[in-house]
Amino acid sequence: MSRVYNFSAGPATLPEAVLTQVQQDMLDWQGSGMSVMEMSHRGKAFVSIAEQAEANLRELLAIPSNYKVLFLQGGAAGQFAGIPLNLLGDKQAADYVVTGSWGKKAVKEGAKFCDAKVVAQPQGAFTSIPDPASWQTRADAAYLHYTPNETIEGVEYHWIPDSGDVPLVADFSSTFLSRPLDVSKFGLIYAGAQKNVGPAGMVIVIVREDLLDRASTQCPMVLNYAQQAEADSMLNTPPCFTWYVAGEVFKWIKQQGGLEAMAEINERKAARLYATIDELDFYANPVDPVSRSWMNVPFTLADAALDGEFLKQAEAAGLSTLKGHRSVGGMRASIYNAMPEGGVDALIEFMLDFARRQG
Ligand code: PMP
Repeated sequence: MSRVYNFSAGPATLPEAVLTQVQQDMLDWQGSGMSVMEMSHRGKAFVSIAEQAEANLRELLAIPSNYKVLFLQGGAAGQFAGIPLNLLGDKQAADYVVTGSWGKKAVKEGAKFCDAKVVAQPQGAFTSIPDPASWQTRADAAYLHYTPNETIEGVEYHWIPDSGDVPLVADFSSTFLSRPLDVSKFGLIYAGAQKNVGPAGMVIVIVREDLLDRASTQCPMVLNYAQQAEADSMLNTPPCFTWYVAGEVFKWIKQQGGLEAMAEINERKAARLYATIDELDFYANPVDPVSRSWMNVPFTLADAALDGEFLKQAEAAGLSTLKGHRSVGGMRASIYNAMPEGGVDALIEFMLDFARRQG
């Protein structure tokens, strides 16, 4: 067996220790005589798996007791609709700061349900975050939505916006659990699982309890936060296997030293990769240095004609899935929690060597 360093943006690499544990549990989870995939979600075994995952997530993020944690289906994109359907109440307006492709999709979906307004976005390409002093936010908005990390463009907030009395809503999909987070600053946080959390098929929603009273009567029950919270996210069959693997990932993060330790490692990995990109004229990253992502590092080669060769040789060197998103081209290295430092080192070594051989 030979595993590659997988730089995919999601579904993405998982900690090898977690995969090994899942493999061990596969045929017989803890003496139950069955795999987690085959269990009733109402049975004692799965309920204990679900509860333990939530408890560990609460501990990792120090989630205050007045927040509900939901484990739902429909992905992060499902929440693009779920958020207005749950949070508008008697309001018509919702504000969106757009700093990349996912924020753009979020506001487009939101506009099906309300007066969703782009209150700030950079002029030209998505390579920076507009100064909050310029945001045209509205006091009567039901919420202010932003995307802390834009997976495609590699633009990340290293700070939390101040939305005043308006609930702050954040799509943490590609930077969830990459560092500690003050959950109390948010009305709602959501994150698709398939980057830092586990396999695809689940979205985690962390929502402040006082926001559970305003869902639209049209809101489908599977998206209804109050109803799902009441049913411990089991109003219908939950994404059981993903929930279980996520629980194993939470245990693994705790073993690594929790989110502070994760942050230290993530910052170091990203800094080393950006330093390599900046050092050589051969590579470039267009993002404002203060808003560069720790998780998704897009870069281009000075001569795009070499892209194919770069990818081919990288693949041969065991460095997989480095092709950038089709909308921006070039390369993208996603270096989530589960990407070991050795993987980033191997990429850097390859990049230096490739540049040397071409130069
Ligand atoms: N938001 C962000 C920031 C993402 O990166 C993605 C997936 N790449 C999504 C939303 C959509 O997530 P899903 O595919 O889980 O619906």
